Amino acid sequence: MGKAKKKVALREVIPGLVGLTRAFWPQIRARGHLIALSGLALLCSVGARLLEPWPLKLIFDWIIVPTDSAPALESISWLNAADPLSNVGLLLAILAVTFIVIAGTRVMCEYFAAVGMALAATRIVTDIRARMFGHLQRLSLRFHHKAKSGDLITRFTYDMERIRDTAVTALLPLVANILTIVLMFAVMFWFNWQLALIPLIVMPFFYMSSMRTGNKIQGVVREHRKRDGALAATAAEAIGAIKLVQALNLGALQEKAFANQNKKSLKQGAKAQRLAAALERKVEFILAIATALVLWRGVQLVLAGTITPGTLILFITYLKFVFRPMRQVAKYVTKLSRATASGERVMEILDTAPEIKDRPDAISAPPIRGQIQFDNVSFSYDENTPILSKISFSVAPGERVALVGSSGSGKSTIISLLLRLYDPQEGRILIDGRDILDFKVDSIRQQIGVVLQESLLFAVSIRDNIAYGGLDADENAIENAARLANAHTFINNLENGYDTVIGERGATLSGGQLQRIAIARAAIREAPIMILDEPTLGLDNVNRREVNAALEQNMQGKSVILVTHDLMDSRNFDRIVVIDNGRIAEQGTHESLMKLRGSYHALYSNQVNQNEAELEKHRALTG
Ligand code: ATP
Ligand code: MG
Repeated sequence: MGKAKKKVALREVIPGLVGLTRAFWPQIRARGHLIALSGLALLCSVGARLLEPWPLKLIFDWIIVPTDSAPALESISWLNAADPLSNVGLLLAILAVTFIVIAGTRVMCEYFAAVGMALAATRIVTDIRARMFGHLQRLSLRFHHKAKSGDLITRFTYDMERIRDTAVTALLPLVANILTIVLMFAVMFWFNWQLALIPLIVMPFFYMSSMRTGNKIQGVVREHRKRDGALAATAAEAIGAIKLVQALNLGALQEKAFANQNKKSLKQGAKAQRLAAALERKVEFILAIATALVLWRGVQLVLAGTITPGTLILFITYLKFVFRPMRQVAKYVTKLSRATASGERVMEILDTAPEIKDRPDAISAPPIRGQIQFDNVSFSYDENTPILSKISFSVAPGERVALVGSSGSGKSTIISLLLRLYDPQEGRILIDGRDILDFKVDSIRQQIGVVLQESLLFAVSIRDNIAYGGLDADENAIENAARLANAHTFINNLENGYDTVIGERGATLSGGQLQRIAIARAAIREAPIMILDEPTLGLDNVNRREVNAALEQNMQGKSVILVTHDLMDSRNFDRIVVIDNGRIAEQGTHESLMKLRGSYHALYSNQVNQNEAELEKHRALTG
């Protein structure tokens, strides 16, 4: 009966561990040698622990109350038969030294096992982190839009750290303890099965209570993790948007939201600790009962001459050894369940399949000419709201096409599809007459230069920011790209020139300057296709003019798709495609669209009126 209960208890922890082991097997196997070595040290320490009470038992049985089974000291040839008292002293000394040697061996082996395991765990976690990071890069924007970055970061740091920590502070001792318990029971049964039965009968009670509480703890801990993730997400959001928070004076509101989350997190944490503490008390009590029972029956057996006093000592010592690990097993169960929860969260990410994957038969795109064709493309971010329907237009090599239309009409979405940040549900996108799904994603993206509104620059030097556009770019290429982007002069005028780190103190660049660095980054690719998503939005007139000039130099001979709100910028383009509510409303040159007197005409007139109204205001102000 005892055995059955024990199995159920272990079953609670093991599936999670097995799942984790399977998921991370490649990383674990890579550290197999280290793990095997620390396993060896572990075995050695368990053996030593088993031997530890033996000198004491022998001292009792051979010296303090010598029984019949004790060896007759006189029969040992190398002892001095004439002086029995000195023999006792010698034997005592030998046993004492043996005790020290055993204890020393155990401590040393425990140390090596822990160090080996810690090393292995650190390396495994580092490998898993690398795998997770690589995986995150491949996950679609859809995933990243949904995931909160704070939550992702918690998984990266906190959860990974917990897994590493648990391998050393819970998994290793748990294995050691289970081994110790099993072997100690074997020895106890060998001596006297009746006496050994007592702790074995007490065990199920322990397991039942630890299992129930352990389950409860796991639930609470999972909730706690979730709360912590939400907390980090709230903090990350507030910090990420600190400019906005301060500008809109949302500080107090954010603080309140954070405090709320914080309180919830605290509550769950305290609950888990309370449950764990209660569990430990229960175990202590069970140990006292078991000890009393063994003493009661053991003394009877000693008096009856069935076992020696030394054996009773051995039993009592083993009992403490058996129950002490068992007491800790409760702790390990908690820790392991926490780590399993953490592991599940990490696995959740790794299990998210990248949506954008190269087809198995995808080929590397050859140098492209720059012909682009959207063929009846329909797309939605989620199933319910169609964003684009039946979009068809084409761009000939070297042609310049502008996408215009009201906000939210789907212009940026069209560009995301071309970059394969998402794949359309219907229709095809062709480059040089071939479906882009036929090509490897990277090989297409490499041949497209992109400048987005408020381009993302990294917090590294200007040189590196430009070089990211073409990873193996040399100094010359970087400067040429900067010249093309009208950025070389202002960069040279900076105190640190190309080494200026973006975003560092004193390196505040204007929106137009940042944008021109982004243009340089696109220019360095010398890509045949150039994509511009409102590159001048939000810039003042001076910056705008400079960015536009930089773009003009860069668009020479390239296929260009420009998304813009400013119809003055796109007036001279070869074709203007008007997007309205996810559909193409009109397309043609500026002149032909004006003649149509349709939606483009309306948009354009509206803008001209607006511009005139502003001019009017300006004239009135300057008198
Ligand atoms: P704007 O001129 O304001 O930049 P846009 O024409 O570029 O607008 P899109 O950004 O393509 O418009 O958005 C089209 C529609 O898709 C909008 O209704 C928007 O709310 C929705 N949308 C955009 N990105 C996502 C996303 N990641 N997930 C879900 N819906 C999105
Ligand atoms: Mg947009």
